[in-house]
Amino acid sequence: MNRIPLFEQTLPETPVMRLRQEYAGNVIYVKRDDLLPFAFGGNKVRKAAEFYHAIVKQAPDVIMTYGSEGSNHCRVIALMAHAMGLKCHIIAAESNENHRVSANRRMVLAAGATVKTVPVSAVAETIENEKERLMQNGARVYFIPGGGHGKPGTEGYVKAYREILAQEEGLQVTFDKIVHASGTGATQAGLVCGEVLSKDANADATRILGISIARENPRGKEVVVESVREFFGGARKTDDFEKAVSFVDDYTLGGYGKTNDEVRALQRRLMTEESLPVDLTYTGKAFYGMLRYLTEHDIRNANILFLHTGGTPLFYDDLNDMINV
Ligand SMILES: *Cc1c(COP(=O)(O)O)cnc(C)c1O
Repeated sequence: MNRIPLFEQTLPETPVMRLRQEYAGNVIYVKRDDLLPFAFGGNKVRKAAEFYHAIVKQAPDVIMTYGSEGSNHCRVIALMAHAMGLKCHIIAAESNENHRVSANRRMVLAAGATVKTVPVSAVAETIENEKERLMQNGARVYFIPGGGHGKPGTEGYVKAYREILAQEEGLQVTFDKIVHASGTGATQAGLVCGEVLSKDANADATRILGISIARENPRGKEVVVESVREFFGGARKTDDFEKAVSFVDDYTLGGYGKTNDEVRALQRRLMTEESLPVDLTYTGKAFYGMLRYLTEHDIRNANILFLHTGGTPLFYDDLNDMINV
């Protein structure tokens, strides 16, 4: 099995930049996890780097995962598998939403991953059947849950949180809020666990604000709380986790991939005035939700950290629609 030198070491610290302008009356800092140096970066790289170590230990022949072949997760896993000299097999759910050939999808296919698409209702069964089929053919299979969910994924953002604490010290600034796009919840769970670990068991992690890009509460929040519980495995009082998780579902704009003209205008503004690429599905939508949240909760003159979770290839898909030349 080949080794990816980058994942053999600790990932390098991602930069924190201060935006030139104020937004909703606040100073905005951006932590650029979109610049993580593997396959166009993003939060799926932090998660993959954690799974990487478990994969090396187990030495499988095939990495299997679940997700849309146009997803950031599948791009990172397919490229990681290929770089490790392993096969990648993806189970995807049928979707009638988006038929365009995205940049992520092209990279997944270029990496030689195989994709089996089935109706959503058949996903769990298909995963088991496909594992069985591969194993009967003598292959050892390592399965990564969709989105890089699970304890290793959470661990990736516990580490990122430690990085943020060190950067606060370096910059001599305390972030009043740490805001990011929240999907399956592993990113948020990791940050919350990092905050809890950084202080005592009653640490106030409510400064971490997950802006839901799709899920509604109570389920959205419950999944994050579950991941926090799983991470601590009963080693901590669990009642506090409910309070610690702020999962905001007010700006989902009707669901996954749904957007509006204000998000599009913000995307264009951030690109042209701050040189900051954001996509419409995750980071642009979360940035938009963040500004509305700050206004609606009368938060002003605060230092806000926006964690840029990536999605650079999605930005290019959007760009083709944004600028028609
Ligand atoms: C997957 C993803 C998220 C959501 O991360 P979760 O850990 O699933 O909550 C946010 N932003 C981008 C760009 C993503 O690709």
